[in-house]
This record gives sequence, C-alpha cells and structure tokens, in this order.
Amino acid sequence: MGVRGLWCGPSDFGLDRATVSETVARVADHGFNLLLPEVKGGHGLLRYPSKRFAQAVQKPYDEFDFPAVLLEECRKRGVEVHAWFIDFFEGEDSPAFRAHPEWAARDAKGRCTNEEQLRGERFTGMWMCPAQHAGYSSEWLVPIYEEFAAMYDFDAVHHDYVRYPGDLAPDQYCFCDSCLQALPEWAGYTNPVFLDEPFDHALYDREYLEAHWEQSPRVLPAYWERLNRAERSRFLLEGSFFRYGRQDLDYFYYQFRKNAIRRFVDAARAKCLSARPSIQVSAAVFKNPIHSARFIGQAWNEWAGAVDTMIPMDYRDHYPGTMENYLGLLRETIGRQKCWSSEAGASRYLTGFALWPLVRGGELESNRSSHLRQVVQLVESENEEGWVMFCLGDLVRYDLWKAVGAA
Ligand SMILES: [Zn+2]
Repeated sequence: MGVRGLWCGPSDFGLDRATVSETVARVADHGFNLLLPEVKGGHGLLRYPSKRFAQAVQKPYDEFDFPAVLLEECRKRGVEVHAWFIDFFEGEDSPAFRAHPEWAARDAKGRCTNEEQLRGERFTGMWMCPAQHAGYSSEWLVPIYEEFAAMYDFDAVHHDYVRYPGDLAPDQYCFCDSCLQALPEWAGYTNPVFLDEPFDHALYDREYLEAHWEQSPRVLPAYWERLNRAERSRFLLEGSFFRYGRQDLDYFYYQFRKNAIRRFVDAARAKCLSARPSIQVSAAVFKNPIHSARFIGQAWNEWAGAVDTMIPMDYRDHYPGTMENYLGLLRETIGRQKCWSSEAGASRYLTGFALWPLVRGGELESNRSSHLRQVVQLVESENEEGWVMFCLGDLVRYDLWKAVGAA
C-alpha cells in the first residue's frame, strides 16, 4: 500500500498523552500511515519547547512536549511523522516581526503585508522577506529547523508557505531596503568599478538592440540615487535592460525571488542534516512549478537535492470548473508532477488534496463523501506512491471517517 498521509492542526491532538495516543490510534486504524503535525503556525508561534526561541513558544507547549509524545505514539504504530512548518508567513503580532520589523517583506511604498486588503478585508498576516542574507531566513527560520532536527528524531521536516505571497499581490514584494540594494548588485545592473560609466556599446551595429547585451552595459539610470523607493521599485519590476529596449527587467526580478527561496531550502536541508543525518525533508508546493516560479518564486522542479518527498497541493480550489473538470485535470497533472518531482531529484512524489473544497457553490453537501472516494480512487490509480490529505480537523468536522475507510 502506498502512503496515506494527513496534515494535522495543533488542536487535533489535545494537550495530554492519552488524547494524543487515542488520536494516533484512530487515524492509524483508518489506514493512515503518515502524519504531518503543524509545529510552527501561521501566527509565527512554535509548538515545541524551543530553548533558542523560547520567546516564540506557544503556551502550554513550553511544558507539554507535544512532538516528543506524538513521536512516541507514532512509533508504536509504525506511523511516519513529518514536522510541518509555516515558513515565510507570520502573524502581525509574531515574536519574530516584533523583534525585527526590518525582516518583513515591504512593497514599493515600504509597507508590510498587513496593510494589504484581501477579499475586502485587511490582511493580518505578515510575510517575511526570504531574500535578506542576514535576516528572517538565516537568523530565525533556518535555526528553528536546525534546533527541531537536533531535538527530535522525526522522519522529516516539512516546508509549507515556502514562497512569496500568492493570493496576496504576487508582484509587489519584496522591495525592502535590503532587496533594493541586493537585486541590482546580484543582477549586475552596475559595476563596482567605474561606477559612473554607462558602458554604452561602441557601435550598435547589430540588427537588434538587445543583441548588444554581452558587454554588460550599466542598467541602472545615472540618477538612481536620487529616485525614491517607489520609483526604484518600479524600475526593478518594469524597467528595461536597455534604455528604449524591451521592458525585460521583470525577468531578473523573478529570478532573484526564485534564488532566494532556493537558497533557503538548501540552507534548511544542510543544517537539518548536520544536526541529524537521518532526517529527511518534504514540502507542500503549488501544483505547477513553471507557473509558481513566476508568481511566488517557487520553482520546485529546480530544487535538486533539497527535498526528498514532494507533495504538490492539488486542492480542488486550485483547479477551475466542475468536479468532472477537476478529476480530468488532476489525472493529467499527476503525470506532469511525477516528471517535475523527478527533475527535482525527489525520491518520492505524493499527491496532496483537501477535503474542504471537494464541495463548492451550488453542489450538495451530501456529495462530499462520494467526491472524496472519487479523488482517492483516481489518485491511487495514477500514483501508487500515495497521497496526503488536508486535514485531520476537516475529517472530523465533516465526519468522513467511513468514506475514507471505504476508499
Ligand atoms: Zn526583501
């Protein structure tokens, strides 16, 4: 049998050994053999008794060692367990942001994501900048992974939100002070020597303006230092490599973001492995890495060697149309995801799906269990390695134990 996994929220297990044990027994009895409990939440708090980040530990997880208890209960029943971390997304009251507001991602006006609107309401989440060399990634997130790997003999650590914001303003981040400085340097838009030289081409004798690219002309305008943040940001996203040339600087902007995420997954893996050589890495990623590379910096097909188990989130709300459309598109996508996972060097590819969007506007709630069976049957016929379902809380809420057992 392949993997049958379940993402699990913090409240699903209770706060004592007996409840954890009962819960693990129940899910194992229904055929699940992989659990992914959330140990770093979207509010930025940790659910393990961290010593290094004691100020970020959510009570009562400073006293109740949830991962240790869960691990023991999973081991008794042969259930694999991955520690699920919300990576670059924190709450506006998170300890990391309060201590280091300069680590947050900023838009062209210097604003944080909690000043954005999402579906008519103020967005209260805080996205952190993935690109700063000495910032949230290197000083907070990677050390958390490292500490967790050292403390617990989990089978794997699990990335989620390993990206830039998506449903929120995909092109507007990050223009923090660090990125405004680092992006032009990284992209070679100017030269550390002969700073004022434009390095125009001597001849411009070729058919196309862009054909004169290889001498690396100065891309930044001479008045760069006098531009304000918004105008610099606009130039980096919408400007042209050649004055009067194609508006192509967004290419470098998206590459810069991809590289920042890639640097993080590589660093997290290296630190986890040095803390515990047996630990593996899994990741929840968006369904199409060619698309997510452009919109959220998540080119997961290019993460060679950084992830062992790739788990694309093929949630129904990530697909258009009817249930029939979803099943048809999902079948086709699974084939492509196998190739992308193999490009990324992942040794295992699991298909992720979610319970909550299986029924949507106009469809009968009573269809939820039959939709679940259809998805499980399709996924198991197309991907013998298995699947991961979101989530335990919804399994209880919709009372789908029978349906999942039958599937
Ligand atoms: Zn930044």
